[in-house]
Amino acid sequence: MEDMFVLGGDQRAILQTVERFVKEEVAPRSPVLDAHKDPQDCFSWEIVEKAHEVGIRTMTLAEKWGGLGVDSLTTAMVVEELATGDMGVSVVMAQTFKIAQIMQKAFSEEQQARVFPAFAKDPRGVLAIGATEPGNGSDKNTAQPVPYRTSAAKVTGGWSINGLKHFISNGNRASHYLLLVQTDKTKTMADGSTMFLVERDRPGFTIGRVHDKMGERLANNAELVFQDCFVPDENVVGGVDKGASVLADFSPQSNVYAGASVLGVAVALHNKAVEWAKLRVQGGKPLVEHDGIRAQLAEMRMLIDASRSYIHRAAWLADHKEHGWDRTWGALPKAMAAQAAWKIATWCLEIHGGYGYMKETGVEKLVRDAAAFLHSDGVNRTLFLKAANAMFGLLPNPGGKA
Ligand SMILES: Cc1cc2nc3c(=O)[nH]c(=O)nc-3n(C[C@H](O)[C@H](O)[C@H](O)COP(=O)(O)OP(=O)(O)OC[C@H]3O[C@@H](n4cnc5c(N)ncnc54)[C@H](O)[C@@H]3O)c2cc1C
Repeated sequence: MEDMFVLGGDQRAILQTVERFVKEEVAPRSPVLDAHKDPQDCFSWEIVEKAHEVGIRTMTLAEKWGGLGVDSLTTAMVVEELATGDMGVSVVMAQTFKIAQIMQKAFSEEQQARVFPAFAKDPRGVLAIGATEPGNGSDKNTAQPVPYRTSAAKVTGGWSINGLKHFISNGNRASHYLLLVQTDKTKTMADGSTMFLVERDRPGFTIGRVHDKMGERLANNAELVFQDCFVPDENVVGGVDKGASVLADFSPQSNVYAGASVLGVAVALHNKAVEWAKLRVQGGKPLVEHDGIRAQLAEMRMLIDASRSYIHRAAWLADHKEHGWDRTWGALPKAMAAQAAWKIATWCLEIHGGYGYMKETGVEKLVRDAAAFLHSDGVNRTLFLKAANAMFGLLPNPGGKA
């Protein structure tokens, strides 16, 4: 996983810690947890607590708050490494990494002092962000001229929130949420929505369904239900009606961490394909000695290396925008990695023959996981559209993530 961007001993030490964590804590538990029928049983607090113990959970938090202040590039590398052990675990952590970064950028000093000390100490502290609604999926990414249905009405001292968010990663597990809510119903979500900080125990806020997912099962996704939920003025993040720009500001990291998650799954699939091709003998020799299969393994490697380079470049540019960042970098790397992973998943299945379809080889779990990011963090097709709009100046101020 190391590449030309890995410069410092600190980064190397962090990656070694994560590698050990994956080997000892994640990989052995992953197939067992994945097999549970109830999605809530697939989630493991034990893994989160172990991640806390070794400093991974709070890695993106600044040192003054008790974290490591890790940059976006190192974070992308960590997310990939976690996903080689299990995609769900990588998502639980990646959401927490990225939301801690958004919070540090967008929170006032008072909000930081209120939230970070408790979050840093809590071994179960994970974070979530709620934007998607049943009637509003891609629209939030493409800045369609519609408002969010979930809205906040001004009341004395704060806001009263009503509505429903769904599909939210860590939705039923988080201690703190960032929530995008319509505060001006006469406007679109791009210019009439506000980001709120919502604490888990706020009266009027409850968890609805926990979604039963095809893959990425070690992460939970849930509905967030708001019924006359009072949130004080102090919990407005980044200004009233400025929610879209808080999110857009952070799109590059969101996209690269999503890409890094699915890339980790592609690496795991490739490793399995290589191992199998060396072991399985057909036509009188191991599969790897058949030219077609050997070439296919190299093509898989190319897709992985190219996706990783794109992700790393985008992660670095996210922290150094002055060096040529544009909005395409916040949309395309995840799409590329997700497409590569999906291709690698089908090829890995093919190389395993009938064995790949049997649960015992573990390929089918990875195929289910690889499908997650065709849609998550924006459907690939709409990300292409978003990048194209940015390229041709069609949306000067998109309300979504890129
Ligand atoms: C595993 C997972 C985790 C997620 N985690 C979170 C989370 O933590 N927080 C959160 O807020 N959301 C989350 N989401 C939601 C995710 O962002 C949405 O699923 C995604 O934006 C797509 O919305 P949708 O599912 O409603 O699909 P739709 O918007 O209904 O899209 C359906 C199809 O229509 C196409 N389409 C839509 N609009 C256009 C258009 N204008 N032009 C051309 N084609 C179009 C799409 O490409 C797609 O093929 C998660 C989703 C998943 C699957």
